[in-house]
Amino acid sequence: MKPAIREELFRRFQEKSPNPQTELEYSSTYTLLVAVVLSAQATDIGVNKATGPLFAVADTPEKIVALGEAKVRDYIKTIGLYRNKAKNVIALSQQLISQHGGEVPRDREALEALPGVGRKTANVVLNVAFGEDTMAVDTHIFRLSNRLGLAPGKTPLEVELKLLKRIPKPYMQHAHHWLILHGRYICKARKPDCPSCYVADLCSFKGKTTAETAPKPKAKTKTKTKMKTGAKAKSKAGS
Ligand code: SF4
Repeated sequence: MKPAIREELFRRFQEKSPNPQTELEYSSTYTLLVAVVLSAQATDIGVNKATGPLFAVADTPEKIVALGEAKVRDYIKTIGLYRNKAKNVIALSQQLISQHGGEVPRDREALEALPGVGRKTANVVLNVAFGEDTMAVDTHIFRLSNRLGLAPGKTPLEVELKLLKRIPKPYMQHAHHWLILHGRYICKARKPDCPSCYVADLCSFKGKTTAETAPKPKAKTKTKTKMKTGAKAKSKAGS
């Protein structure tokens, strides 16, 4: 993809969504870190359902450790791999207390040394909480980067390194969320919705769908809706 096309691609993402946000709910850098650890192989919606009640009773490393592994497991049992994740959440909280004064470090090496934290999680925390120009390549970004021709690669790391070089600097801060959200809602894994895609003319994917082959919008069903009260505030980390 030529530089001028890359520039136009991100100009459109920005025009469409000037301030994209993570869909994970959190109230501090620590709760963001825990939410991202829990989100491996799980949906953000599923994670939010579990972390809402969990963070209401324990939203610091000290409180999570005091709560204990069995209770943490109970709060997150609707999330895949919950046994292992509960162990990691306790262990990483203990490590934050013993090595970092209970704070989440702004340092890749220290983050990746925490139990359950890999390169992708460290990239999300560095980008979302600390505003660093990192690129966490998840399944959506990996797929979209290849389809668009923006950063083709065989591994997440190869795609990540290409994206870091190719995304124009002024767009780096939000690029992660633009790509994730576009992959999640438009350039879907099984069938991309190309007729609804506002960057289709910039995309080099050979298997684009047409009005006939694109996924059909789901029919609306009448369901009783419950009034939600006390919705959790989603705020920037570090507050
Ligand atoms: S045109 Fe289709 S394949 Fe290309 S980015 Fe858009 S949805 Fe994805």
